[in-house]
Amino acid sequence: MTMNIKMKNTVNNRTALYALYALEAMMMVVHGLFLIFFACTGVRLMLTVNIFSLLVYAVSFLLIKRMYLTVYTAVVFLEVSIHMFLSVLCLGWGYGFQLYFLVCVPVIFYADYFSVKLGHRHVHGFLLSVASGLLYFVTLVYVRYHEPLYSLDNRIEYVMLAVNSLVVIVFSTVFLGALARTATNTEAKLERQATHDMLTGMSNRNYLIEQLGVLFETEHLKDYWLAILDIDDFKAINDVYGHNCGDYVLKSVAKLIQKNSGGMISCRWGGEEFLLVGHEGLTKGGAKTSHEVLERIRRAVEENDFIYEGTKIKLTITIGMASHTDEQTIDEWINIADMKLYSGKNSGKNRLVV
Ligand code: GH3
Ligand code: MG
Ligand code: MG
Repeated sequence: MTMNIKMKNTVNNRTALYALYALEAMMMVVHGLFLIFFACTGVRLMLTVNIFSLLVYAVSFLLIKRMYLTVYTAVVFLEVSIHMFLSVLCLGWGYGFQLYFLVCVPVIFYADYFSVKLGHRHVHGFLLSVASGLLYFVTLVYVRYHEPLYSLDNRIEYVMLAVNSLVVIVFSTVFLGALARTATNTEAKLERQATHDMLTGMSNRNYLIEQLGVLFETEHLKDYWLAILDIDDFKAINDVYGHNCGDYVLKSVAKLIQKNSGGMISCRWGGEEFLLVGHEGLTKGGAKTSHEVLERIRRAVEENDFIYEGTKIKLTITIGMASHTDEQTIDEWINIADMKLYSGKNSGKNRLVV
């Protein structure tokens, strides 16, 4: 139950639902136009079919609303198949109604994708696509042996072929485009979730280790230094002001670290610990030693007033720093910085140990 509520409330799922309604609306507009066309040209059989089709789409709105997506896709598929087959039977191949069988494929997979996204079952996209392809060939064989029931002016046939081709191109573009865009956005979001900490927006531990691995491969970490920054007595902040205040403090400290460290590699190492990686060449070039950069961060936190719901909170951080030495593994390097941090905690906190 809780799970379902969560799924229904996300922005992405709302977009998925709107996308299905958009598909539904487009189908109704197209069938409305067909209705006018068949009424004007006197193709009575198709006029009747179209009235029926519009009723089907009106009912389908309810199917989406009630989330019967498998039934919805089957109903739409059946309607499109009957409609297209009868259109070709009435008017022949030259009007391009059979093209709709082909556009069924992207539309079916579009519905399939969003059905799963909305937390429902697959709508048998592959099966329906194969059926759609088969129906295309059945129609092709049918017209080989049967004359159309109605014969209209050649110019009408030509214009209708152009209109149907245009609708098919627009449908394919819109639905394939929407699928591709959703896939790209989801991928970017997943990538961010995999590499970043959601609370502070900083890189996460795994991503930083990956970056260190690259620096190890390419530069052997020569002239690099690493620092672990740990908020002092953070547990007390949670205990006294509550967990939300603790989160606010973590976000604020992360901002202070990022603001005062320039373009250095930084991450939320875990809990109330942050990790910063710098290069001596870069810090010296900017007229700052690693010592100066880290002292500046320590002071920035110490001097900052953390205001939470009108209450002023003061806090400090302790920092352990280690320069990379030849032949040292990344784990050994981090352990040395950690030991320095530990010694800083044992000698009064609020200090930098190098
Ligand atoms: P020390 O000065 O020795 O570092 O003490 P400390 O209290 O800062 O360290 P300790 O390891 O005892 O406590 C860390 C606390 O951080 C415990 C944990 O509940 C809290 N914590 C970890 N992650 C989060 C988080 O994401 N949000 C909040 N609000 N608290 C967190
Ligand atoms: Mg800690
Ligand atoms: Mg701490």
